[in-house]
Amino acid sequence: MSSRPVLAVRGAGVVYPGGVTALHDVSLTVEQGELLGIVGPSGSGKSTLLNIMGTLDRPTSGTVEIGGQDVAELSDRRLSALRGRQLGFIFQQFHLAEGLSAAENVATGLLYAGVPRGKRRALALQALERVGLAHRSRHLPHQLSGGERQRVAIARALVNRPVLVLADEPTGALDTANGVAVLDLLTRLNHEGTTIAVITHDRDIAAQLPRRVEIRDGRLLSDTHTDAPDRTESSS
Ligand code: ADP
Repeated sequence: MSSRPVLAVRGAGVVYPGGVTALHDVSLTVEQGELLGIVGPSGSGKSTLLNIMGTLDRPTSGTVEIGGQDVAELSDRRLSALRGRQLGFIFQQFHLAEGLSAAENVATGLLYAGVPRGKRRALALQALERVGLAHRSRHLPHQLSGGERQRVAIARALVNRPVLVLADEPTGALDTANGVAVLDLLTRLNHEGTTIAVITHDRDIAAQLPRRVEIRDGRLLSDTHTDAPDRTESSS
């Protein structure tokens, strides 16, 4: 039971209306505690894969399981509850609400997780502390740097203690120094136990992650683990 993967995509295909096949028979398993990169050029199918991993879209064929639950069996309502409780999302453009303070933005990560109102602020402050921003809790997004905004967004993704965090080009809107800091933060959070999948077109970023899954033209090309040379395909 304890070794059940947090996410299993099995034989997934996605065909968009109009006939574009964006994913062909993709299978991917994420175990608890992993930090992996899904890397490929523009148009390779990364967003499509992210959307089905995050249960935002359903695959045309194949299955997606979160914690052993086949998400196709859930109603839209139960699916959004599962998403709110089990998944955390980080986006390239942060997607913070401008009128809300850092702490209030983080607390929105608890809206769909069934956490009583009175507990949300304390949990939001704890999450801000984990990303080193406790001292910025009352700041509005426009009073924060890009790197700080992304750290608030990371705190929002973490605040419900999700089983899996999905990060879509998390350093894409940042300069190099802030990008490195965000990647270091994700690495530290992973060492503290958070399971994270990073979607990126940037091979340099992917190269710093312990597992890299390469996608091209909607197919998985390779799955390389730095920590487990016996499963490595591309290094000797
Ligand atoms: P990436 O995120 O790697 O840039 P995408 O998953 O966005 O790749 O796209 C994969 C393929 O699917 C591309 O050929 C793209 O044009 C196509 N595609 C993506 N979204 C749609 C859509 N909503 N309708 C039709 N085709 C789409």
